[in-house]
Formats: sequence, C-alpha cells, structure tokens
Amino acid sequence: MLINIHAHSISTSTPDEFVLPNCIVSKDYLYDQACSAGIHPWYVDLNEEAQWEALVKYAEKPQVIAIGECGLDKLCSTEWNRQLHTFEKQIALANELKKPLIIHCVRAYHEVFTSLLRKQVSVPVIFHGYERNWPLAEQLLKNRNYYLSLGAAILKGKLDDVIQQIPLDRIFLETDDKPTKISDIYAYFCRARKLSIKQVEDQILANYNRVFKSS
Ligand SMILES: [Zn+2]
Repeated sequence: MLINIHAHSISTSTPDEFVLPNCIVSKDYLYDQACSAGIHPWYVDLNEEAQWEALVKYAEKPQVIAIGECGLDKLCSTEWNRQLHTFEKQIALANELKKPLIIHCVRAYHEVFTSLLRKQVSVPVIFHGYERNWPLAEQLLKNRNYYLSLGAAILKGKLDDVIQQIPLDRIFLETDDKPTKISDIYAYFCRARKLSIKQVEDQILANYNRVFKSS
C-alpha cells in the first residue's frame, strides 16, 4: 500500500494507493472517506466567521483525521495578519481535537515555527510539499513531532541530499495537486535512497500508524 499523504483529488488514485485527500474549506466539498480539512492561506474568506464555523463542523467529523493544509505563505495576496490569525486558530483546534496538522509553508518557516511554539502544538506536524535544502530540514526535524512530506519536486533531482539524509521515520510522500502518480514518487525516492519499494512502503506505513493512531 502506497500512502499518499496529501492530494487534491481522488480521481487519479490507483488501486495500490491509500490517498488522504485535502478539503479546502469553502472551496471543496468534504470527502466521505478519510481526509484532511483546513483553511488554506490562499483561501481565507472575507467572512471569516462563517468559514471558521464550517471548518469546526468538518473537523469534528470522524473521517477528518488531520487539520490542514493550513499555514503561512509570503507569496500570496491574503493579508499577513489574517493568515497568521487563521493559522494559529487551526493549531489550537488541532490541539483540542488531537488531530495532526498538515502545514503549507512558503518562505515563512521561521514564522510557522514561531506560531507552532506560541500555540504550544501538541500533535504531530507534517510539512507538506517540502522543497528546501537539507540544513533547514535538519533544523526542523530536531522537533521529534515534526515530519516532512516530499512530492513531485523531488523528480527534478534537486532534493537528493534531503532524500539521502532524512531519517526514514520522519518521512511521507505525496502528489499534492500534481498529475504525477504516487508510484513514480516512491520509485524516485527509493532509487535516490537505495532502498526497495517494499522497505519504503513499510516504513511510511509505520510512520502513518504512529502519527494517526497515537495522536
Ligand atoms: Zn496542497
């Protein structure tokens, strides 16, 4: 079973795949199957209160097993303070519901760390779509509860040092909004790390069980 920890569609998933689709509140319908739900920094509504109520209603449902993607993005047009406020409320909600967080972070790692610390995050945190360098990853993984998810960006070859050095018990793989097959991402990861598909498959399944069954 190839776990795909973050995707925006289930239509392209394959029979050997377990996909966790993401519902962006006030943009997507909620999925009937296991999924994540959150307020994406690109889509913070002007009517914040109604959007928040919708998220809380979704977040309490049993099929919503993670909160997010949520986070901070320095390249989007949403006003910074609204992003920050919406993100920190979602950290508190994740803590309260004991559901892991899936983080969207663009050029704002320092600010995301600060928010997680300030809100005393107590659930596992998955940084999705990681495409920065190994030193930042290493810094981030000093927190035992933080995980990285790698996606189609690895196929370009620029993340090989991250692939080779990341502790295997802190990794996930994903397709996000890309048309790539999750099996291609697993295959690339395995080649670069010199491991079999079976080894990585079993490891990511163990990571999934640790993050989602114990929180
Ligand atoms: Zn996404």
